[in-house]
Amino acid sequence: MLPVVVAIDGPAGAGKSTIAKALARALSVGYLDTGAMYRGVTWAVLRRGLQATDVEAVARVAREVVFVQTADSLHVDGIDATSAIRTPEVDAAVSHVAVNSDVRGEMRERQRQWIVEHGGGVVEGRDIGSVVFPDAALKVYLVASPLVRAQRRVAQHGGDVAEITRAIAERDQRDSNRDDSPLRQTPDAVVVDTSERTIDEVVADIRQLLTARLKSS
Ligand code: C5P
Repeated sequence: MLPVVVAIDGPAGAGKSTIAKALARALSVGYLDTGAMYRGVTWAVLRRGLQATDVEAVARVAREVVFVQTADSLHVDGIDATSAIRTPEVDAAVSHVAVNSDVRGEMRERQRQWIVEHGGGVVEGRDIGSVVFPDAALKVYLVASPLVRAQRRVAQHGGDVAEITRAIAERDQRDSNRDDSPLRQTPDAVVVDTSERTIDEVVADIRQLLTARLKSS
């Protein structure tokens, strides 16, 4: 049997990490946060004093960088960067790094390798169902209202709701309009709005969908 992949995609603040992590725990499978990988490359780029828009230098960093990633942490080149990859500086630069096709190619390889090594799992990102695992057993596209998304980010990392709303909108805009693997909902993805629902409710729904998919396949 092929490894079972559950793809969780959607814009920033839709609840992907929380839901994907809880789902993986409930299913007793691994969880991969691919946004953390793009953030890790970005952090490594900034730490080397390079510009996020320097295409060749950034591609080189993506090939060289060593990640040790768990569900809750990311070490980059031997340094614990778990908090450092969530700063406003990385937020602002990451979607510039993520447009780089060489970076995307390298990350895609690493993500597919992770699934082989883990025998399946829950993978969260922007292009997981559309590009990285087009044959995923289940594709979920999470959405939430702009206000709820901004409020969640503020609750997690602080800041001003209006400013965060603007920053999220800018990042969505760049993620949705890039040429390589833009953020988009595939026709076979199930859209789940997390705005007014609890984590447990959403996880229960996704588990039901997965059970139904696996039975019918
Ligand atoms: O999910 P998170 O907000 O941490 O992702 C950070 C950024 O990484 C996104 O805004 C996007 O630019 C990039 N990303 C991506 N493809 C993925 C996951 C994240 O381009 N699969």
